[in-house]
Amino acid sequence: MTSRGSMLPLKDKDKPLVQKLLAAGCCARCVLRFCCVGLHAAYRQPCQDSLKELQAFVSDAENGKSEQAAAPEPAEGNSTSHDAAGPNSTEENSTSQDAAGAEASEDPPSKRMKLEQSVSEAQADGASRVCVCCLGILQQLSEHTQAVKIAEAVKAENYEFDSLVLSVSLPAQLCVREHSCWLHVKKEVREKCMTLDKDDVIQVKEAFKWIMQSLIAKELRGVSVVTKVRESVFEVGVEFTHPETDADCHFLATACPDCFKPTKNKLSVFTRMAVVKALEKIPADKFLKHYPCPPPRPAGSCSFQDVQCLHVAVFVAGRYNKFCRSLPQTPWVIDGERRMESSVEELIAAPILSAFRADGFNFSSSGREDVDVRTLGNGRPFAMELLNPHRSRLSRAEMKQLQEAINKSSDKIRVRDLQIVTREATGRMKEGEEEKTKSYTALVWTQKPVQKDDIAFLDEIKELSIDQKTPLRVLHRRALAVRQRLVHSMSTRLLDPHHFYLSLKTQAGTYIKEFVHGDFGRTKPNLCELLKTDTDILELDVESVDVDWPPAIPE
Ligand code: ZN
Repeated sequence: MTSRGSMLPLKDKDKPLVQKLLAAGCCARCVLRFCCVGLHAAYRQPCQDSLKELQAFVSDAENGKSEQAAAPEPAEGNSTSHDAAGPNSTEENSTSQDAAGAEASEDPPSKRMKLEQSVSEAQADGASRVCVCCLGILQQLSEHTQAVKIAEAVKAENYEFDSLVLSVSLPAQLCVREHSCWLHVKKEVREKCMTLDKDDVIQVKEAFKWIMQSLIAKELRGVSVVTKVRESVFEVGVEFTHPETDADCHFLATACPDCFKPTKNKLSVFTRMAVVKALEKIPADKFLKHYPCPPPRPAGSCSFQDVQCLHVAVFVAGRYNKFCRSLPQTPWVIDGERRMESSVEELIAAPILSAFRADGFNFSSSGREDVDVRTLGNGRPFAMELLNPHRSRLSRAEMKQLQEAINKSSDKIRVRDLQIVTREATGRMKEGEEEKTKSYTALVWTQKPVQKDDIAFLDEIKELSIDQKTPLRVLHRRALAVRQRLVHSMSTRLLDPHHFYLSLKTQAGTYIKEFVHGDFGRTKPNLCELLKTDTDILELDVESVDVDWPPAIPE
């Protein structure tokens, strides 16, 4: 060991605690956790160095050596200045007595002989043995090579991001081991400070992040690591498992059966949440009957599962026209079989998904049209939620190119005003949708021949109130109800004695087809009644959807 000073902010009253935990087979970082050391830099120094310092610290206590008055400044003092203060943090550093760490290597062998047998055992192989508490997560699994592995996995996914937040998933049985260790040293912790509780022990997850976040960021040049999920849109999830000790939790199911209710979509009832809940409930004596204290030594350390990357959703909005009378808005599947080869949403989504390299999407729009109805005019507002996009920042010019790519890909649809919007803004699309006006043009057939003058009176009708029972054609998916709707105005253009165009401005949600053919009297009044002849609708176009969102983009 070098002769530099210790940087571990430990105090005299930590000694019994350190000694007991080392003897129990805890790694140096777990010892620091149970000493409630909140100094991040203390965890970042090599585990070996910390172990040697702790051993020296304890052996010093064993030998009743007098304290060194002042410890030298921590060698990496600069990295400690910004760290959050914990119960045993930086401010105590200046009075730290463990300059002893520096002397350890100079201790005569005779001094070591006096050590407690178990402590010397821990010294002998503490470095190579897997920690009984963290199962290796704060040992070899927190090393630089692991940070490189995680960074490589992130790089391979080829995401676009400038900050990330690390999330860690640990095997549930770690909580059992933590609880066992806590019971093992509870007395010593309380002696150190009465107000300290299990919650003051630094969590394995936290310590892991303190060590690893900066290492990963260094590997991913230019990326900053943030600690709160809401500060970053990109999350890197690291999962550890330890099959060897999975059964550690099992006794809890018989001890606290009400904490473990089987759920359909969980593989195991032993979720972290359930285990934590059971450990809060179980009395110490009952726990100790079923589980050793301290925890038994594992054969191997945790294994490192896949790295999961997740980028928050990006929202894209625009307006679409539909020029085809055989194109559904969404994939049309009946009994597992596709009825139409494409759909509006698929035609729009495909180029957008590939531009943003997203895993999936959710499509929504301001109302919808039937498969045989065209949408003309300015088009219908729509929004797409892009799931786990690997790219998230397209410039205006790139969005314009994307729009052109969509428009070139099919003549059945056309998109305009394509833009990235916020999740909140998409809500405006649905706001007041029911009150909005929609404009339609219907091609109407009349059984009796009509003249221009026979239909001209329709142009004079304003704010016609109609009652519509749920149409027969949608009754299989909508509840039966009578809805009142307003036909604000109509205008006619005669084509021949049996055909005319009827333009309508109506309240959103009006069933136009039913208004024209009457739906066996389920819509009243209807065009048949008004014209006193049978009428039917041959074609329908949506001329405009009066929703003022998303904002128009000047060409
Ligand atoms: Zn540990």
